[in-house]
Amino acid sequence: MPENKFYYVCKYTPLEMLSGFGAEAVRLDVAPANFDCADECSHPNLCGYGKSVIEAVAAQNIRALILTDCCDVMRRVYDVLKARGTLDFLELLPLPHKRGSTESKLFADALERLAQRWAAYSGQSFDSAVALSAWENGRAEAVQAQINGPHISLTGAHGGKLLYDTVTSRFRLPVTDDTCTGRRELPPCASGKSDAAAFYSVYAPALLGQARPCLRMLDCQGRATDETAVGVICHTVKFCDYYSFEYRNLKANKEVPLLKIETDCTPQSAGQLHTRLDAFAETLHAVSEKVASSGPVHYAAGVDSGSTSTDAVVMDAQRHILGSVILPTGAGAAHGAEQALTQALAQAGLSRDELDAVVTTGYGRETIGLSDSSVTEITCHAKGAHFLRSSARTVIDIGGQDSKVIRIDENGNVRNFIMNDKCAAGTGRFLDMMARTLGLTLGEMSALGLQWKNEVNISSMCTVFAESEVVSLVADNTSTADIIHGLNRAVAGKTAALAKRLGGEPEYIMTGGVAQNQGVVLALGEKLGCEVYVPAEAQLCGAIGAALIALGD
Ligand code: ADP
Repeated sequence: MPENKFYYVCKYTPLEMLSGFGAEAVRLDVAPANFDCADECSHPNLCGYGKSVIEAVAAQNIRALILTDCCDVMRRVYDVLKARGTLDFLELLPLPHKRGSTESKLFADALERLAQRWAAYSGQSFDSAVALSAWENGRAEAVQAQINGPHISLTGAHGGKLLYDTVTSRFRLPVTDDTCTGRRELPPCASGKSDAAAFYSVYAPALLGQARPCLRMLDCQGRATDETAVGVICHTVKFCDYYSFEYRNLKANKEVPLLKIETDCTPQSAGQLHTRLDAFAETLHAVSEKVASSGPVHYAAGVDSGSTSTDAVVMDAQRHILGSVILPTGAGAAHGAEQALTQALAQAGLSRDELDAVVTTGYGRETIGLSDSSVTEITCHAKGAHFLRSSARTVIDIGGQDSKVIRIDENGNVRNFIMNDKCAAGTGRFLDMMARTLGLTLGEMSALGLQWKNEVNISSMCTVFAESEVVSLVADNTSTADIIHGLNRAVAGKTAALAKRLGGEPEYIMTGGVAQNQGVVLALGEKLGCEVYVPAEAQLCGAIGAALIALGD
């Protein structure tokens, strides 16, 4: 006898109807470590969600799965799973795009066919009274879980439990799961009809008429952001067109602060995701833990534990920099941070006990363990940049492993930001690798790049392919200065595109280690059509911002 249990993905799956068969419903919610199986048997352009469904079926002992034809990806997932033939029960439920009477009738017929197949598979019979009571119970639970006060709306493409829990852990406010597989709330059952024949005709329009429809529905007004949402996080998955449209629509509404995040439905890139979420929480003043310092602060330190350098700054209450150090991060971030702080304190002539507050920032901010207060690089660079140049309105920070563009207001608060951290392109790492290929130090490469004569185009932004291009140019006797200029322009082009996407506006200030490469700065100014200011303390900017926050700014 097959088990009376099925897995599902879509919120239009008729859970209540299947409860009428006594079936147990399990939402397929997995974040696989990789897509080994999916990559073997499906098209590479399938989105991460589709691939994660294939992985889950391969990895778990799933016997019955109900999919809906909600998008092309789910249709392809169905094809792949059908061809693999490992499931005993696999259904692709046709889902109309509208809630009209014809569509409801079609859907009711489809539900009835599914019910017949489930009866044949499970050997159970349908009890409409049980289904109706599951409907009412589900509704009561959904109504009870409603959040009416200030909250964060997590919307867009499926993110699952992993993303929901991650977002919840970073914000002080409650979070509603408004993603495509999130909140499921059916309207009340209008009729008390409990005979099986009538059930489908009342249930089909109710299932289609959920309070928060899928974006695939022609009428998706119900997806409008709740008035009580103080911030919206829009999740997209590569190759998911529908929810990219949702982002575009949300962007048009300038009233509610919006953050776009992209994942591939795996736990990869968790560090970068935390930085984005924390920075957004900081701009909304909704961080789960806030910097707290008790008593007056006479001396404070900021430590920026980056991917490439670890920087420490010690400041007094008058905002004078008493000590500052930049060290390579190396293998042990915690050890490097400790060393940087010790050296900065020695420069300042202070002992550790004289420090009243320490704020950490950077990629290793939460792991280096120097303080209880950590703030993202985004907020720290904004604060630091405002301190170094109060007229700056857009900060461009190019560090070792990512680049960021941050719009700030006249007080140094973050208005908006964008990050590129998906690959080395457009970051310091790209330039570091090219310097190695050319056999130059960073200082030599920066100086030589200013002596260019002819423009050379480096068309590949992928570090590996760009390296091959550089090797070919060297073989063609292209001058090293021209090659470096081509590389600088490639990095500048990528960064300028980020700045334009964010709506950056002058005055621009550049921070981070790459600001020391004057060729990149000049090329960036050319692409942006305006001057880019570089402070002498560019690489220390994050640590300066952290020290300012430690002082209470
Ligand atoms: P992170 O904060 O990620 O550790 P940084 O802001 O310290 O990164 O920037 C590191 C990058 O700065 C390096 O990858 C390198 O490309 C660039 N950089 C560091 N020193 C120099 C220099 N003297 N000249 C040119 N570029 C430099």
